[in-house]
Amino acid sequence: MRLLLVEDDATLRGQLRVGLVAAGYAVDETDNGLDAQHLGASETYDVVVLDLGLPRLDGLSVLRRWREAGHAMPVLILTARDTWHEKVAGIDAGGDDYLAKPFHMEELLARIRALIRRSQGLASALLRHGPVALDTRTSRVSCHGQPVGLTGHEFRLLAYLMHRPGTVVSRTELTEHLYAQDFDRDSNTIEVFIGRLRRKLYPELIETVRGLGYRLAGPA
Ligand code: CA
Repeated sequence: MRLLLVEDDATLRGQLRVGLVAAGYAVDETDNGLDAQHLGASETYDVVVLDLGLPRLDGLSVLRRWREAGHAMPVLILTARDTWHEKVAGIDAGGDDYLAKPFHMEELLARIRALIRRSQGLASALLRHGPVALDTRTSRVSCHGQPVGLTGHEFRLLAYLMHRPGTVVSRTELTEHLYAQDFDRDSNTIEVFIGRLRRKLYPELIETVRGLGYRLAGPA
């Protein structure tokens, strides 16, 4: 899953980045509203964490511009104070949830997981497909009850497919959701990661749909 982090407080941004990367997200970040608006309009994100008080363009305006342009990704707003009118304004501008500072990293992560789940119409934080279980709360994967160690890229790829059961996902789409912006992207490496997941879990788990992409296949 790929995430955009917009926060002008460098210390807080650094702390959030560490926590988000540790939780398995590919993170792009910026410290101002103008760059945020551009990134959100031109890149593909599964979720955005947006501070409201930002230099160059305030967070509410950023959010309104995204929504007016039809960008519907889930957005979690960070409010500086626990004031009701900021929350109301944020939700009216198209925000999906909010969190008042200061907050605990665990709460931010839980709210992000819920937003991603809801955007995919899923009810549970524990995703299952046949013998494979993926716990979005702990970023752990198991197969037939046995823990399976995955790298960050392998985990993100599997999580992306497991959030979309039955859907064919193209290589381009996977590339867009797996890597942060500054990463050297090569869609051929997707095939390498797919191969590793098949080896670590089971070969029939991921089906190649010729010319279209990949799909989670029937249980082993
Ligand atoms: Ca701020």
